[in-house]
Amino acid sequence: MKLTDNFGRLIKDLRLSVTPRCNLRCLYCHPLDWETTEPPGTVTVEDVRHFLKAGSMLGLEAVRFTGGEPLVRKELPQMIEAARDTEGIRDIAITTNALLFRRRAKELVAAGLQRVNISLDSATPEVFKAMTRGGDVGKVLDAIELSFELKLEPVKLNAVMIRGMNEGEVVPLAKLSLDRPLHVRFLEYMHLDNSNPEEYQRRFIAGAETKAKLEREFGPLEKVDSDPSAPARVYKIKGSVGTIGFINPVTEAFCSKCSRLRLTSDKAMRPCLLTDLEMDIAWAFEAQNPVEAITDAILLATDRKPAFGNTLPTLRERVMIGIGG
Ligand code: SAM
Repeated sequence: MKLTDNFGRLIKDLRLSVTPRCNLRCLYCHPLDWETTEPPGTVTVEDVRHFLKAGSMLGLEAVRFTGGEPLVRKELPQMIEAARDTEGIRDIAITTNALLFRRRAKELVAAGLQRVNISLDSATPEVFKAMTRGGDVGKVLDAIELSFELKLEPVKLNAVMIRGMNEGEVVPLAKLSLDRPLHVRFLEYMHLDNSNPEEYQRRFIAGAETKAKLEREFGPLEKVDSDPSAPARVYKIKGSVGTIGFINPVTEAFCSKCSRLRLTSDKAMRPCLLTDLEMDIAWAFEAQNPVEAITDAILLATDRKPAFGNTLPTLRERVMIGIGG
């Protein structure tokens, strides 16, 4: 079965947030008064199993576990196992800051983890520490090596570019792709943190500016063939082993090819990252036949997917860390 929305978009990817908690406190992401425990009502392994069963029967085929920080969730391996055991789910990945990766990698791989997207806004220890309010970049670099050892490929790195924080990191991050098959992707900062709109505009860096900076350093980037339905525009530095991607949700919105649905850790469905539209579906998990009820909820969320998200700085009801990036 294939699931399409009212605009003919194929819906096949799920972002599933497993916790609101995070062990980093990135300046642009983590409000200081954020959750430090999983609140009652947070999605359980059984909930994940039911959701994936319903989703896969409708045509969802890829799941990316996120948060908060998915590696702080004790039951993550059991959730990955539930994905592995669901017929039709073909791609199982996590988006992670990777701090706890060395500690947890073996159990995750044994459970069926196939790929990792590692967030790394800076490869310079002091800059990383400042941006994350105390994080140790050494652990992230170690996690990258471990991902290769464990063959969790392709290994993708995501860096959100923010003026005054990490614009000086563009070249060092890109250099990581020179002699390793790493996919370094530069993301535009979205107004999903309820920052002051002027402050946001001041800090925003367009992908084109990042690309121009790289071309000044390395010469023209070479276009690489890539999945046209994926949001990243992919290039490489001449002679490099890895690639450089640009994900520009603000200056080059990719809503027309959006294939995603999101489930938050408190069981709300988000048809679109960039609108406040949200459906509390906790009731469906409590229903006598949860898979059937969740199926109805997924269909309703698909039906409500808007044509476009809103990238303008507006007050959001939920910020990125609570939605699941
Ligand atoms: N803790 C995990 C991690 O660090 O990857 C998963 C959750 S985090 C919210 C997912 C991604 O969203 C991170 O790469 C983070 O940099 C990105 N992110 C957070 N706020 C953002 C924003 N306002 N605009 C763009 N990306 C953002």
